[in-house]
Amino acid sequence: EERKSLSFVEQLVEEDLTKGKNGGRIQTRFPPEPNGYLHIGHAKAICMDFGVAEKYHGVCNLRFDDTNPSKENTEYVENILNDIEWLGFKWGNIYYASDYFGKLWDFAIWMIKRGLAYVDEQSPEQIAAQKGTPTEPGQDSPYRNRPIEENLKLFLQMNTPEAVEGSMVLRAKLDMANPNMHFRDPIMYRIIQIPHHRTGLAWHTYPMYDFAHGQSDYFEGVTHSICTLEFVPHRPLYDKFVDFLKEMNGEMEYLDDFRPRQIEFNRLNLTYTVMSKRKLHSLVDEGLVAGWDDPRMPTICGMRRRGYSPESIRMFINSIGYTKFEALNDMALLEASVREDLNKRACRVSAVLNPVKLVVTNYPEGKTEEMEAINNPENPEDGNHTITFSRELWIEREDFMEDAPKKFFRMTPGKEVRLKNAYIVKCTGCTKDSDGTITEIQAEYDATSKSGDIGANRKVKGTLHWVSVEHCRKAEVRVYDRLFCVENPSADKRDFRELLNSQSLHIYDNCFVETYVADKRPGEYLQFQRIGYFMADPDSTSEKLVFNKTVGLKDTWAK
Ligand code: ATP
Ligand code: MG
Ligand code: MG
Repeated sequence: EERKSLSFVEQLVEEDLTKGKNGGRIQTRFPPEPNGYLHIGHAKAICMDFGVAEKYHGVCNLRFDDTNPSKENTEYVENILNDIEWLGFKWGNIYYASDYFGKLWDFAIWMIKRGLAYVDEQSPEQIAAQKGTPTEPGQDSPYRNRPIEENLKLFLQMNTPEAVEGSMVLRAKLDMANPNMHFRDPIMYRIIQIPHHRTGLAWHTYPMYDFAHGQSDYFEGVTHSICTLEFVPHRPLYDKFVDFLKEMNGEMEYLDDFRPRQIEFNRLNLTYTVMSKRKLHSLVDEGLVAGWDDPRMPTICGMRRRGYSPESIRMFINSIGYTKFEALNDMALLEASVREDLNKRACRVSAVLNPVKLVVTNYPEGKTEEMEAINNPENPEDGNHTITFSRELWIEREDFMEDAPKKFFRMTPGKEVRLKNAYIVKCTGCTKDSDGTITEIQAEYDATSKSGDIGANRKVKGTLHWVSVEHCRKAEVRVYDRLFCVENPSADKRDFRELLNSQSLHIYDNCFVETYVADKRPGEYLQFQRIGYFMADPDSTSEKLVFNKTVGLKDTWAK
């Protein structure tokens, strides 16, 4: 769906194009750190980064921001690629910030030689304590004015296997009184003695985000570096390092020529979930969910497993738009998009989650009939399938009431109800066990009332779904609720673990699905009629079918 008005980002991009900046070239990038799986927040950034490139006939590259080996690995890289493809986007090149370690090192050496960087041997705590406050200047490090030669020697030492983590950092010598705290001699390099997933043991000191991101954009020729609002205060430093880089490359006189432009938009925050990678890691590592792709997780792989379509995720992101203000978006809005999209594509089938037996007493024993079932009334091209009718059926326990109120239009003794795609039946009674639990319901069918026949054309208020006892498969159905009990777990003072919803997973382990459903695989969208949207889970085998509930047919969360 095309948005009617331009987002503010698109407006800025169009201004740059009008001015002829960068020769009319548009190049963006999506820069994930391979330290976890992508979540729906990343999808918002992806839609923007790829969307702008697509719209203005440019290219969006991927750049793995892999400057901290302690949390990164190749498993994450592979899953990130898979998730972006699934969302429906195509990248140009795949780059890694680690490809630029050599260039960044050379740049750092140039900074040191120009007196623009120094090695600080204070502890991280001491350095933090000297930073000052936005209204008060910071204090100079005692190492701030050490000779260039000494800085060069120590920086080389930082990059040896003997260097002790935390013993030294390289800092830019900028301005300890700058009201922008990021200018108060920001750290450029720190020592990390952990093998890197791509460069192995080649490096012992690694650049910080601020000394890698803008430079990487510059090396690649990125024209618009779109990111989230928390990077607004970093932008002047981003530009400053690009200035230095251009100076080093002798491009001083062209300062206004090519340079990447950072533009920031508001992050996606969703109700009843968390998006911080640290918290998502805890949920997985502490076994509080079944993994990154647990269908309750806000991850792309979790949503895929749950049965969300990529189109519905994109529709949702398009509907919330991009602004300059932080907001908390309603999970119900995402679910509405999922519902709207799945309505168009899901195959309608029958499944009984909480079964009770219905015996059609006047239907001949041993007889069966193949009934036509329309796959999707929204899309006739999806065709039909057949469902077998017989004397003994499963229906939902909730669809029967012995002493029903007047407005109960389901099954109750003496009243007629329609069985979907089959006959009109009249309930005649039920059988109970010693403690009053209903074990069987009886009904009689009207042989002239088969769907499509003239006898079916009378007014019967309720239509129930059913499956034939002899022609169905047993299944486990996993039904999900909100992962957290509170609307905004990130704003809560309590530990986020205490806010988890202990009822977020309900397993129905005695369900019956029509035989046709047994062949449905993960990735095929289903609607269990009258219940909701579902998808086969990867745990499903031919011996044990497993389905996930994607979302209900209606918003049961509306207040
Ligand atoms: P964390 O801060 O929890 O480690 P991150 O945001 O740093 O996560 P990255 O892999 O660095 O994760 O993010 C890659 C890109 O996705 C960045 O450009 C970032 O701004 C964007 N992004 C991350 N989270 C969101 C979000 N909730 N909404 C929109 N964009 C996001
Ligand atoms: Mg990060
Ligand atoms: Mg980040």
